[in-house]
Amino acid sequence: MAEIEKTLVTIGINYICDNERCKGEVLPSGITGENNKDIVLYQHRCNKCDKIYIFKCHYPKIEYI
Ligand SMILES: [Zn+2]
Repeated sequence: MAEIEKTLVTIGINYICDNERCKGEVLPSGITGENNKDIVLYQHRCNKCDKIYIFKCHYPKIEYI
């Protein structure tokens, strides 16, 4: 099988605070942990209302379509 080139479109995905009145951006706090299945969890915090979120991935994240 030979290499082929394919043009990808990069998209950035941000997480906006669940609090409807806030609309702040949820960003990593720098604190990470693990759950009891060794899955890494990332603590995030809203940059407006300071609400704490725990995700299995990092925001903002980058995906290709
Ligand atoms: Zn918020």
